[in-house]
Amino acid sequence: MTNTQLTQLEKSHLWHPFTQMRNWEAGSPIFIESGEGVKLRDTEGREYYDANSSMWLNVHGHRRKEIDDAVIAQLGKVAHSTMLGLTHEPGARLAARLAALAPAGLTRVFYSDNGSTAIEVALKMAFQYWKHLGQDRRRFVALSEGYHGDTIGAVSVGGVGLFHGIFRDLLFEVDFVPSPARAASLESAVAQMETALESHKGEICAVILEPLVQMAGGILAAPAGYLKAVRELCDRYDVLLIADEVATGFGRTGAMFACEHEGVTPDFLCLGKGLTGGYLPLAATLATDKIYDAFLGDYKEWKSFTHGHSYTGNPLACAAALANLDIFEREQVIAGLTPKIALVRRLLSVAQSLPHVGGIRQIGLMAGIEIVRDKSNGELYPFEDAIGVRICRRALKMGLITRPLGHVITFVPPLSSTPGELTEMLSILREAIAAETQDS
Ligand code: PLP
Repeated sequence: MTNTQLTQLEKSHLWHPFTQMRNWEAGSPIFIESGEGVKLRDTEGREYYDANSSMWLNVHGHRRKEIDDAVIAQLGKVAHSTMLGLTHEPGARLAARLAALAPAGLTRVFYSDNGSTAIEVALKMAFQYWKHLGQDRRRFVALSEGYHGDTIGAVSVGGVGLFHGIFRDLLFEVDFVPSPARAASLESAVAQMETALESHKGEICAVILEPLVQMAGGILAAPAGYLKAVRELCDRYDVLLIADEVATGFGRTGAMFACEHEGVTPDFLCLGKGLTGGYLPLAATLATDKIYDAFLGDYKEWKSFTHGHSYTGNPLACAAALANLDIFEREQVIAGLTPKIALVRRLLSVAQSLPHVGGIRQIGLMAGIEIVRDKSNGELYPFEDAIGVRICRRALKMGLITRPLGHVITFVPPLSSTPGELTEMLSILREAIAAETQDS
């Protein structure tokens, strides 16, 4: 099929996420046809660096032979079989691997198929846990500028108004605490959390947060020690802690899981995105024995967790996830990140000197580059200037894919990116920023 024919089909029938379709219909879509390593190729033969890891998913590059082979081998057995009333080897093996890898104490793995459902599972499990303990707790505490996905529960605990404001009337009530990234100090951030816990003592199910960094909120880093302090507060106020590592999990922050940086075990750990190396939709909600045990009982007590999805624990996805973890282990991927993180820091410091680059926030191998109109006072470009969109569009023309979060340009390359590739990617991004901001 020619590109013109494809474009006509796509424009007649497709509806894209987070996209103003009128603009989309006026543009020329890029059809990605193949990928290799950190690059994607379109139907016209143009190549692009995948500098947002296909939406923060890809870990070891595209078409990794080991993951391809694992999925193909599983296809030779069975593509899917249900987890309701049956089980399978890749699902069992992966659960054991995740329990061994995750912060100590997270022993139970509940599968679903995407990050949002991993969050729904945690929220509902937390709610039901308290029911089993004879307590009617309905309140959740979440962080402003946090993002946890697009299903209604995940939207309820999400704090990025721009994304979900329109749905407010559909959502359950949540107590929002200001983003710790905006606090004057660690102490004041912790005090804000304590105030929220204190004001509804005995009514709160759980605190939910993205450990270390609020990704979709604009790559906003919490002060060091915040996660650990929130864990301590949750223990003191007898509240559960849900760590959303859908985006930060699998090496992005320089550790396998962000919680490791502060030695924290949450009551629930939500995983998705990089779990399958960015290959197939799979998510997991890990829980402790304390939670799991509260759901055990006689049949007639009706204590089961009544939640599940048709494709829960899909065997192909589990096989991909096992191969993903094998690569982490065999290639010592986490240890290998240290020099790459240092290189990205050096390269970003060069970008910092550009006249319209404000703050740069780097956590591990990912970064948010803030674009400002006036560096002297941090004044932003007007929203309608769409400066972030324009820079990313220019970068795309120059062979690099990434996404803006408003005025913040994200850089989330696959962990497998070599020093040479990282250098080239950031050089393109720098040029795109300089070119797009030169007249403003
Ligand atoms: N949680 C976080 C921290 C995320 O960044 C995302 C997606 O970006 C989600 C949850 C939702 O994941 P999904 O898009 O797979 O539903």
